[in-house]
Amino acid sequence: MDKNAYPTFDFSPWSLSGVVYGALLNSTQQLLELGEAVNESPYKAPPKFPVLQVRPRNTLCKSGSEIAIPDEPGLVNVGVSLGIIIGKVACKVSEAHASAVIAGYVLVAELGLPCESHYRPAVRFMARDNFTVIGPVIAAQHLDSPDAQSVIIRIDGTEVANCLDGNRVRNVAALIEAVTEFMTLQPGDVLLLGACGPSVRASAGQAVSAEMPGLGTLNFSLTQEGSITKTATGVHAQTTAHITRTPTARVAYAGGVHTATPHPQGLQLADGRVLQEKDVQWLPPIEVGTILALGLNYADHLKELSKELTVTSKDEPLVFMKGPGSLAGHRGLTRRPAGVQFMHYECELAVVIGKTAKNVKREHAMDHVAGYTVCNDYAIRDYLENWYRPNLRVKNRDGATALGPWFIPASMVANPHALALSTRVNGKLTQDGSTANMVNDIPALIEYLSSFMTLQAGDVILTGTPEGVVNVNEGDEVVCEIEGIGRLVNTIVGDTLFGR
Ligand code: CA
Repeated sequence: MDKNAYPTFDFSPWSLSGVVYGALLNSTQQLLELGEAVNESPYKAPPKFPVLQVRPRNTLCKSGSEIAIPDEPGLVNVGVSLGIIIGKVACKVSEAHASAVIAGYVLVAELGLPCESHYRPAVRFMARDNFTVIGPVIAAQHLDSPDAQSVIIRIDGTEVANCLDGNRVRNVAALIEAVTEFMTLQPGDVLLLGACGPSVRASAGQAVSAEMPGLGTLNFSLTQEGSITKTATGVHAQTTAHITRTPTARVAYAGGVHTATPHPQGLQLADGRVLQEKDVQWLPPIEVGTILALGLNYADHLKELSKELTVTSKDEPLVFMKGPGSLAGHRGLTRRPAGVQFMHYECELAVVIGKTAKNVKREHAMDHVAGYTVCNDYAIRDYLENWYRPNLRVKNRDGATALGPWFIPASMVANPHALALSTRVNGKLTQDGSTANMVNDIPALIEYLSSFMTLQAGDVILTGTPEGVVNVNEGDEVVCEIEGIGRLVNTIVGDTLFGR
């Protein structure tokens, strides 16, 4: 991914160049405090797999930062977590080998607005600007007993929490095994072990510090979001290379990554070489930042799923996030694990943000769109355990989010809300819809998302899928097509191809 996608920090020897994944409900005490709530509908059982969330790049800030919180409710929950800094590509790492992929540790404070529900809390509670405070870093060999660290939290100098970070659903090694079973972690990625004990609340005007004696101290202060922030247009002039006048793709060919443009025979590299579609490995057509995905954003699909899901009220878009490892390019291979019963595609219009957007009203929203591409956002419904939005085990599997083939500039799309959208499995039409039927249209999504987070160039919004999702099997060719945007081909493969 783009080296500049995440802020870098001064802490030697690492800069955080990867993605921060948080583990929720990984404290035995927190689960106990939920009590009977874990046995209520729809899952009627405690979570079986790690409950993970992406903490996107807009949330990351350094220790010492001043963090704005909304006037309502005027306070935040603060959880303090040990962050595991990944040092090697980590795919299917067993507990016994987990220490080999750990480069170091970092102290992290996770902020969130108070939220009633552990079942589908909206991302706006957590994905707010500067809500992930990155503290001191230590090399792995210098931290004794990472599983038994104590945490002391002080507000305005007064100790408000002191807990031993010991009672875990999964300790460091077990969490690495459980996460890397389905998603590959990259060097620079950070996996948060999760806060221990009850969360601490702090208000605007207060200064918070958190100490992990083996690691050090981080601190931050809270201020109210002023009226100026609220009424700002948020329109910052910031154009990027994504805004091109012609369709472009990114492909790997002969050992290099190239920008390509359409050609009657397939594609043409910037150096003039003309190639056929099958000659190259297609990459996602842009360097992607934060990936925001909409669940249940087509009324017909919502109806289709309503028997199986407890559908939440539609007053707020159902958004979840993915990491970059989930992406695959055009003509990619997506793995169907052995033994699953229901794996389905989701053809979606992907909206690429072209310039910074914060507090953007709908009438200006389309100014922030650089262009579009096609997404096939696979889901494995067997794994649906919805303690935090669709769990990453369902929606963040390696290579299960295909994107491409082309980035189409917004100037070439007269009306993105009137495009035919279809999926064909082995040539048979299985999904036939129109982007006209989105519940929340693109301006509504940009207005909503930018009301709590800063969208940046390269961020992508996957706008949801209409009805017609059916099971796909090993060997199936799945073609997602959106009128005027592209035709995205993907093939389902089994486990054997991957060898592990
Ligand atoms: Ca989707």
